Amino acid sequence: MVDALNTEFELTDAEMHLYARQILLDGWDIEAQEKLKFSDICIIGCGGIGCALAELLARAGVGKITLIDPDTVEISNLQRQLAFTPQDVGFYKAETLAKRLQQINPYVQIEYYNQAISIDNAQVLIQHQDLVLDGCDQFETRYLVNQTCRQFDVALISASAIGLQGQLFMVEGDSACYNCLFPQEDQTDTAMRCADSGVLATTPNVMASLQAHHALLYLGLGKMPLRQKLLLWDGQSMQQRILKFEKDTNCPICQAR
Ligand SMILES: [Zn+2]
Repeated sequence: MVDALNTEFELTDAEMHLYARQILLDGWDIEAQEKLKFSDICIIGCGGIGCALAELLARAGVGKITLIDPDTVEISNLQRQLAFTPQDVGFYKAETLAKRLQQINPYVQIEYYNQAISIDNAQVLIQHQDLVLDGCDQFETRYLVNQTCRQFDVALISASAIGLQGQLFMVEGDSACYNCLFPQEDQTDTAMRCADSGVLATTPNVMASLQAHHALLYLGLGKMPLRQKLLLWDGQSMQQRILKFEKDTNCPICQAR
């Protein structure tokens, strides 16, 4: 007997064909692929990390992807931001990336906002998501996204890349949060951004691949290997370390939950 609910979750024949190499995988079955299809995710930032992250997750079959970025494409972005070509210079990144994703996978629902995430729109954009993926280069935005995810109990996987170094971690449930790991009062205005400090073409794409991989583990299989853990990737030595971090008992974000 097929009940109405299950029918709704079924993959079409065309989707089964498209995702055949995943469904054939040991440890990744039709159920995992269906969970992916019925997942809503939000990607903050459509730069070096966001481009590769969004493309991998669209190809893999995440059901709905919301893209948020206020910036337009610049010539200096093309060295690492995989979705953009010289013809895209001057156009909005979120909109341009959305069009590309829709071409790559017409079965994925794409929404985009050519605006920054702010105190005014963060709740509406984040509260219904299954997962938020932060790949932006602004500390202020990172704290706002962390705070809003905590407020509505939305899982967050955050990646960053500067120079030849990358970081990745996950915040979920009652785990320690971004503010526990990097208290906001410790950050200064001179904190580095890749826009100011330079970044090798590969660094954000390595981190985006790891972030997308973790997103698939979480959405399809419920796995969270980096929950409350910080992965540090060093592009000089090609080594990575994973450090567990603790909850800060004085963290105002965690206390407010
Ligand atoms: Zn906290």
